Amino acid sequence: MRRLLLASTVALLLLPCCMPAELFYVREVPLAPGLTFLRGGGGNSLVLVRGRRALVFDAKTWPYGEDIVRLLREEHARPLFLVNSHLHFDHAGEDDLELARGATLVASESTLAYLATDRVGEVAPPFDGAPFLPVRRRVTLDVGGEEVIVVHPGPAHTSGDVFAYFPAERALATGDIFNAGFYPHIDPFHGGTMLGVLAALDEMCRYDVTRVIPGHGPLATKADLIAYRDFLRGLRDEVVRRRTQGESDAVILRAMERPRGEPYRDLGVISSRQEVVEHLIEETRAQGGARPG
Ligand SMILES: [Zn+2]
Repeated sequence: MRRLLLASTVALLLLPCCMPAELFYVREVPLAPGLTFLRGGGGNSLVLVRGRRALVFDAKTWPYGEDIVRLLREEHARPLFLVNSHLHFDHAGEDDLELARGATLVASESTLAYLATDRVGEVAPPFDGAPFLPVRRRVTLDVGGEEVIVVHPGPAHTSGDVFAYFPAERALATGDIFNAGFYPHIDPFHGGTMLGVLAALDEMCRYDVTRVIPGHGPLATKADLIAYRDFLRGLRDEVVRRRTQGESDAVILRAMERPRGEPYRDLGVISSRQEVVEHLIEETRAQGGARPG
């Protein structure tokens, strides 16, 4: 009950900023035999089924994990691995679903530590007795004979993000490092940094992929991912250039307001162009004003 109350409270706080389509129903998008993208109901999920074994990338928030459970029932499969991209409730809120029991929880050590302490607002406790597989840098999983690579690129959206690469499917599940159509968001209270997001995007852009499953938003392509990385890189370089020219923070913020026609939107109060620029101003100052490159 405590978990449910916390989830409801946080969901209500976020309600004004989330798209109804993302919050209130799940859209099932088959990508290939045994590979299904479940959009919305909190964060996006990706499910790989091979034989009677499954890998679930992100479990959504209450009550939308039930859509994953239903899909697995239809496929007569049980999760072998449950990957948490990071700690936020909209991605890890349904970790303790009945069908997830018996699965190995795969996440970074930082995410596992957060889940274990069940911090306020982050409502996913580790499910009882489940084995954990920590991702320090990179682990390779075997799902019914198919290889899945899970990578922790370092602090990005939070201190503990992981993404998953499905080589046979040329698919990449990014978690909230990449949100299609929205400005990047970071959680500095859990160790996130905008420059970390940029570094993680750089790393993800090196993979051979055709399908990109974002943390939120519709299915994307590698071109979308590269454009997003280049956009963020451009903002960083502009911040550094303006500071080098002697502009104050206030002048930089005013000059870098959202231009007409930019293809990204605010994600309510948790993600905006201004917030991105503010983070870049602070983080590049902390770096000593690194030059564009
Ligand atoms: Zn998140």
